[in-house]
Amino acid sequence: MLNAHQQQILRLLIASQGMSRTLIAEQMKLSKAAITTQVKEMLNAGLLEESIPESNGQGRPSVLLKMRADSAYFLGASLLGERVVLVLIDMHGHTLAATEMALHLAPAQLVAAIAAAIPALIAQKSISLDQVIGLGVTLSGFIDEHQAVCVQSALLGWKNVPLAEMLKQQTGLDVSLENDAKALAVSEKMFGVAKKARNFTLISHGDGIGSAHFFQGQLHRGAHGGAGEIAHCTIEPGGRPCRCGKRGCLDTLASLTAIRESTRDKALESESIGELEALAVKGNSAAIAILHQAGHALGLSIANIIQMNDPELIVIAHQPDAFDGLLKTVVMQAIDSNVLPAMMGKTPIANIAINEQSWARAAASVAAYRFIIHLPD
Ligand SMILES: [Zn+2]
Repeated sequence: MLNAHQQQILRLLIASQGMSRTLIAEQMKLSKAAITTQVKEMLNAGLLEESIPESNGQGRPSVLLKMRADSAYFLGASLLGERVVLVLIDMHGHTLAATEMALHLAPAQLVAAIAAAIPALIAQKSISLDQVIGLGVTLSGFIDEHQAVCVQSALLGWKNVPLAEMLKQQTGLDVSLENDAKALAVSEKMFGVAKKARNFTLISHGDGIGSAHFFQGQLHRGAHGGAGEIAHCTIEPGGRPCRCGKRGCLDTLASLTAIRESTRDKALESESIGELEALAVKGNSAAIAILHQAGHALGLSIANIIQMNDPELIVIAHQPDAFDGLLKTVVMQAIDSNVLPAMMGKTPIANIAINEQSWARAAASVAAYRFIIHLPD
């Protein structure tokens, strides 16, 4: 069991690319000797490794400490697609093994299927269950503040399903649930482009639109777990009806579902965003108008987030090939033209492509985040 200082060392290391004992001592306001003692125990326990960076010619470089990739393993299950994707990741966030299974909507059946798939999955890498720290599950819907109960999921047709406890009973693992966009934000914070950002917002752009915020290094869940439900911000008062019962929500203008609907309404020969972009390049005015409408709505929403929260970074997570052309250009223009001139261009916008496995990896990173960031102070 790690003591409080060792837990803090882990937190610092996960947020860095490696740190020296001296820097850790400075940040924790402890003596280097005290840090050395703590680190020695962690090295002996196989949690950390040392690496010596190449000399820059200015004296001996200090030894950097890093988390060992094989110091801990996590499992993640995504319930977002037509099939469940289950992955195994290491402490560096690398996906080591993956499997898929049918998505049972009956929770008991689903739990049994996930539990049954775990032994074969981890055996692929000769890892035993006691080396696995936890299991994360991501789904579309509301999760309670303890990350244990799926309060509501329209996609799964669930209400108040205590999925974490059910999975824990079947697997013996610590289980945490997370909403899809929040899980992806956690994944980018733990292992991706937002590793060093303490304040950032992730926007997920797919069939629906999601968002999640990190403030001061912590995921912001909101008073009722509903923080980040950007999809249902009203962008066009009195606009198209939304599945939520309101009108003119961002989802009705900018989601891939909305773009597909507009494409059908205009009878365009296009099956994907890539094809719609190709039509726009050829000068098809209907295709250009659809991409403009979607890009403007998305950019406007992001500008509002920047204006309200002033984040260090915005991460846009999109489907492969869905954010390359006119859509991206219009989004960027709409951001610039809707923030105060003094804030224009000050917020870096990163974009990452995601696929089915990204969600399962995000789920696994929720388990890793719980392990590292939610360690008791
Ligand atoms: Zn809505």
